[in-house]
Amino acid sequence: MSISAVPAATAPLHNFIDGRWQPALATETLEDRDPASGELIAQVPLSGAEDVDAAVTVAAGAAEAWRSTPPQQRARALFALRGLLVEHREELAQLVTQDMGKTLDDARAEVGRGIESVEAACAVPHLMKGENLEGVARALDVEMVRQPVGVVAAITPFNFPVMIPLWFLPYALATGNTLVLKPSEQDPLPSRRLIELASEVDELPAGVVNLVHGGRSAVDALLEHPRVDAVSFVGSTATARHIAARATATGKRVQALGGAKNSMILMPDADPQLMISGLLGSAFGAAGQRCLAGSVAVLVGTPEQQRATQERIVAAAGELRCGAGADPDTDVCPLVNSASRVRLDGEIDAALAAGAELVLDGRVPDGGEAGTLLGATIIDGLEPESRWLREELFGPLLCLVRAPDLDAAIDWVNASRYGNSAIIFTSAGRSARRFRERVQAGMLGVNVGVAAPVAWFPFAGWKDSFAGALHANGNDAFEFYTRKKVVTTRWS
Ligand code: NAD
Repeated sequence: MSISAVPAATAPLHNFIDGRWQPALATETLEDRDPASGELIAQVPLSGAEDVDAAVTVAAGAAEAWRSTPPQQRARALFALRGLLVEHREELAQLVTQDMGKTLDDARAEVGRGIESVEAACAVPHLMKGENLEGVARALDVEMVRQPVGVVAAITPFNFPVMIPLWFLPYALATGNTLVLKPSEQDPLPSRRLIELASEVDELPAGVVNLVHGGRSAVDALLEHPRVDAVSFVGSTATARHIAARATATGKRVQALGGAKNSMILMPDADPQLMISGLLGSAFGAAGQRCLAGSVAVLVGTPEQQRATQERIVAAAGELRCGAGADPDTDVCPLVNSASRVRLDGEIDAALAAGAELVLDGRVPDGGEAGTLLGATIIDGLEPESRWLREELFGPLLCLVRAPDLDAAIDWVNASRYGNSAIIFTSAGRSARRFRERVQAGMLGVNVGVAAPVAWFPFAGWKDSFAGALHANGNDAFEFYTRKKVVTTRWS
């Protein structure tokens, strides 16, 4: 496959179709800026239906040869991709920091998690095996085989521009599908580099992996395209609902991972150090722009115990430094763009107008150089069912609520329309066990601030945080990307 030179910031990025980087037919573009400096780093083409059709047609054309490639050989292609990702790990992390804004340590962790998904998908010769049962009647045998679904569209969000494409690409390819990736238009450069590395893998024929840049028009064209067979999506709940509804209406299988509002239950018996470091990383790491971010702290215990926990949190959060992701002293990175900062300023003002109290004010005048900085901010005194406590804000804003005991805290968590993650900090096995048993969410953490399952386990939430049946990663990925065929045979 041929690869392009790194594009100039002022020239629109190219799509990758049929093993070649080619200009989008659509002429409209979107500016992509470095969140720390505000510098223009890319022009993103807003591809339309014609661009999408070109990519899907190529992917459909490549599907037959790729599904006929032995699974061991497909796994070898992934081994080769893994080698390139490991070799370019630091470069990918730096691109994530430059384009999305998160700290370098966080970006390195993201790339590492993505590589683990490639490693998990290399188990394809085992995990794609079927089942059989001999002699279900006289001379009658039954076998089940798994076959690829066909063309997979992966539509991904801005907050993990390497890891989330890697929740889908390795498993889809391992199981013999071909892929069209539509990365976030807000920070497409790391995903673009990922596909460029995939294009260097000799074992991946042209057309197996394709990339189309763009926003809503490109997504809608993928959803309506008759030759797209499966859709893997991660993003906000509103978009996830739209994706799930359209994909279902057009006869595609779909997994749509949506937004979140995750609570952290802070028991009075929690190890204070473990609790504070876990809570700070969860609420303020990546400036709160993670689907697993804990954005509500539930202070459990007597009023004195609740007050003591609150004082610890506010004192520790007040020490966090806000700045560029590339600065090793930064704890709270810039937001992905200045519009997010303006939106969050509005949320803070509205919460204050509704009678809330700002117990830690992280507002940086004008949002700093690029208008993207907002430090750790803590809000108290909100009405229990107010939207700041119940809806996703996606920024470094932590809200406080109180509960007299564990059961009341669990009831609070379960009253959410979301069910992505929930966290408990406690020293009591009994409390942890009750929490595990009763909480309605897909990914739980016990004394862990960000409960991200490793690649060998399924990743997704419940309730409004997810639409579909099969989660991302782990065995669910093999299920999602394969169709089962059952053959009943008589040889009398
Ligand atoms: P988003 O929904 O705005 O965008 C996600 C993708 O959908 C992008 O590729 C975008 O181009 C496309 N898109 C956006 N609006 C669309 C529309 N109206 N129609 C069709 N396509 C559209 O999400 P985002 O802001 O990029 O990412 C942040 C969100 O993702 C948060 O809500 C976060 O919780 C969620 N998220 C969830 C998980 C999870 O595992 N559940 C993981 C990461 C992020």
